[in-house]
Amino acid sequence: MTSTQILHLAYALLPDGFAENVTLTVTDGTIAAVAVGNPAPEAGLRLDGLVLPGMPNLHSHLFQRGMAGLSERRGATADSFWTWREVMYRFLDRLDPDDVQAIAAQAMVEMLEGGFTALAEFHYLHHDKDGRPHANIAAMAEAVAAAADETGIGLTLLPVLYRFGNFGSAQPAHGQRRFVNDRDGFARLMQASAEAIRDLPDSRLGVAPHSLRAVAPDDLGWLLDLVPAGPIHIHVAEQMREVEDSLAITGRRPVEFLCDTVALDRRWCLIHATHLVGAERDAIARSGAVAGLCPITEASLGDGIFDGVRYHAAGGVFGVGSDSNIQIDAGAELRLLEYSQRLRDRGRALLAEAEASSGLALWKNACAGGAQACGRALGSIAAGQRADLVSLDLDHPALAGKRGEAALDSAIFAANALPLRDVLVGGERLVSEGRHVARTAVAARFAATMRRLLA
Ligand code: ZN
Repeated sequence: MTSTQILHLAYALLPDGFAENVTLTVTDGTIAAVAVGNPAPEAGLRLDGLVLPGMPNLHSHLFQRGMAGLSERRGATADSFWTWREVMYRFLDRLDPDDVQAIAAQAMVEMLEGGFTALAEFHYLHHDKDGRPHANIAAMAEAVAAAADETGIGLTLLPVLYRFGNFGSAQPAHGQRRFVNDRDGFARLMQASAEAIRDLPDSRLGVAPHSLRAVAPDDLGWLLDLVPAGPIHIHVAEQMREVEDSLAITGRRPVEFLCDTVALDRRWCLIHATHLVGAERDAIARSGAVAGLCPITEASLGDGIFDGVRYHAAGGVFGVGSDSNIQIDAGAELRLLEYSQRLRDRGRALLAEAEASSGLALWKNACAGGAQACGRALGSIAAGQRADLVSLDLDHPALAGKRGEAALDSAIFAANALPLRDVLVGGERLVSEGRHVARTAVAARFAATMRRLLA
């Protein structure tokens, strides 16, 4: 049965600019019509503040929310991404599907309260603690889907193919046993994952070869045959050691090798792509693929700084993801993305268009790239797009007296976290006055889970 609702937005960011008195007709969660300039109708939900399209979160490992803050201690030797990875492996060793659901739901509540209305989950924790598949091979995917159902975030599930421990088809390590599938097992997992998300509204299934370290080159073509539609995400060129290993074993840099092996196009999302030479950067921009940037995690892990300035000038598409979920806020990701460029290039407003604001360019571009990476029609307030909306609180001290670009810039650059009032996904209000409707129950279960896991 079709359901239609009316939403009235006092003030909103539309594709061609800011507008007052915007009325949306929403059918089955998707915007059917946009009218501007009419007074608020008698019926329907009225949203105050400045309404923006919700931000898609294009990269996350939900379970890692449970280890946020546990890897900030320096060991006897130098700390690095690789020592962090050991902490992560030890943490995930303890998790069962109920734990994953509890942690995932908490992360999703925080995403929704932080401006993210859609999520592309890079899902690689598949198997039981002994490394064998669960009796239900998609038990972990079902835990993620159940958390999405509880919290209402729009889900693109990316089951991860992980076969090897390093370039050259090296044997996986003990800590990787819960990720590893052969091709037959992975094909079964894809089928069961499609079933796991089938009842979630407007969900999508994509696929993710974990990295060039974790799959063989001919696995990429095999995956493209197995999954002929939907987004394809891959971690690439995050760490210098990965670049050095790629050069040593393949004779090519990671993105160079990827471009030589597959035809990159709009289906692809290259996560991090931090360490690029100019030709690799321009090849991604030309291909239409998305650069999936995770500035807070990349800073946390000491990855390096993506060359956003030259990539954007070459027409490259990008979006942002919360990746390790050490902190979850769409505004904070965009702020650090811009600030990292400023620190390197010693300039300001580096990702803005000429004579326009940083916040506006960052929000619009990351919405468009994030939507593409999620494989869904969302990311702007227009007919045919999902009614995923966030409203900024114009009464917040950082925004008081401001409109338009100044309000959006202030929300991103001058508030400690995005000052949100309401968040709607598919037309349904999930957050009001900054609080998710299920926050209390989800947080209580998460806390009990963490006390048990860390006891
Ligand atoms: Zn990642």
